[in-house]
Amino acid sequence: MSNWKIPLFEPDLTEEDALAASAPIRRKWLTMGEETARFEAAFADRLAAPYAVAVSSCTAALHMALLALDIRPGDEALMPSLTFVACANVARAAGAIPLFVDAIGEDEWSISPDDLARKITPRSRVVIALHYAGFPCRMNEILAIAREKNLFVIEDCAHALVSDYAGRACGLWSDVGCFSFFSNKNMTTGEGGMAVARDEAIVERLRWLRSHGMTTLTLDRHRGRAFSYDVRLPGFNYRMDEPRAALGLSQLRRLDANLHRRRELYGLYREALAGVERVTVPLPADARGIGVHIMPIALPPGANREAVMRGLKSRGIQSSIHYPPIHRFTAYRDPSGDAQCPLTEAIAERQLTLPFYPGMSAEEVRSVCRALGEILEGAQ
Ligand SMILES: *Cc1c(COP(=O)(O)O)cnc(C)c1O
Repeated sequence: MSNWKIPLFEPDLTEEDALAASAPIRRKWLTMGEETARFEAAFADRLAAPYAVAVSSCTAALHMALLALDIRPGDEALMPSLTFVACANVARAAGAIPLFVDAIGEDEWSISPDDLARKITPRSRVVIALHYAGFPCRMNEILAIAREKNLFVIEDCAHALVSDYAGRACGLWSDVGCFSFFSNKNMTTGEGGMAVARDEAIVERLRWLRSHGMTTLTLDRHRGRAFSYDVRLPGFNYRMDEPRAALGLSQLRRLDANLHRRRELYGLYREALAGVERVTVPLPADARGIGVHIMPIALPPGANREAVMRGLKSRGIQSSIHYPPIHRFTAYRDPSGDAQCPLTEAIAERQLTLPFYPGMSAEEVRSVCRALGEILEGAQ
């Protein structure tokens, strides 16, 4: 438990979840079992996806996605700089070179199709697009560029659980969609993730990569359906276990009610923030069909963010930053200065993320915005 009066995030966990997660322990079957198969089927059903592959994290899903698409050492993987560093880390792990793409602008923070097109080289093989805060990036334009330049597309759907784009769920527009069930996401299994793909051959490779490249499962051998196995490609242990899958199933049952509440809170925030001078929300007002994940704002130009965060903290309100740009991290800094993302740098200076979770009350939303207004006024 934290001492925050209003934390950045609070997971929605119930007694029902606890019972569900403990059932596999009582059954004495902890991994590679029926809960995982059921969770995959229920998740695929919710997204209207043909297949879903449960994994140990979204990072694992992103890593497997690159390998399933046969991304090789020396290939370039393009991605926004304004995203979580996992995307760059898995590209490096696959031997690929991450190339950082700028944001569209100060009012729209997702990956810029124009800058993407500009940065593609003959060695570019894949784009990892993020649906920031759960709002779809400009998928149509990204897909058109990818088709023209012969690139694969991976969607990082860690925020977009579940978001609709033109009548189809985010994650199903590209070669592989990767979801996270980390504890602060729209639903959680503690650690966990899911990969979705429409191509059966890719799904088969994802399943091999998840479990050492092996062709048969422990459960099949346990049931006497198989006695041995082949190894098709070098894989990992990226599996999800049964208590997590059972928790995921239980969480999935409340997902839509929680998404509804997230959209309500988003509307309340927009209303309350309209009264805070010079603070902007870089997202569309219309959140219909969107699994709003976080509540990012842009502070007024020149505002001292650290002072604002300290002011909020002194009132018991937690805040955060999504994200420090990847191209500024020591591990990814380009000494030649070629990783030009000037808009991302301008955005990153002003970015602040406010508390946002289904258990929040309308009064708490108003009190966060009131505090923000007071702090900004006092700082002038
Ligand atoms: C949370 C997150 C991830 C990583 O998910 P894990 O399940 O923790 O590996 C990747 N990308 C983004 C944008 C995220 O928010």
